[in-house]
Amino acid sequence: MTTYIIIASVLLLFFTLGYFRHKRARSKVVNVVDENCTRCQRCVKKCRRKALEVVNTEAGRRIVLNPNKCTACGDCLAVCKFNALEIVSRGQMESSATPLV
Ligand code: SF4
Ligand code: SF4
Repeated sequence: MTTYIIIASVLLLFFTLGYFRHKRARSKVVNVVDENCTRCQRCVKKCRRKALEVVNTEAGRRIVLNPNKCTACGDCLAVCKFNALEIVSRGQMESSATPLV
């Protein structure tokens, strides 16, 4: 009986965490604060979903996010030492998006 309770608890925890991860991914996303970014690329290497990449623009190299791949897990924030990444709501991201030049 105790074994069933433990297995049920683990499954419940697993599905609950999955639900909240999915919910966060749908509503949140990472934003790169360009003026703080040193282009060190630690975040690019850390992201398992390859949501961040370096692109060359007329204004120089920039770190750019693919919001379709980002789950807002926060792993990249943990390695950025320059306070150049933040978690924002997806609506906020869309309204403040600037084109690459
Ligand atoms: S870790 Fe921070 S400073 Fe380095 S490239 Fe990423 S956002 Fe920029
Ligand atoms: S929050 Fe996670 S998925 Fe999104 S860019 Fe950062 S490491 Fe990648």
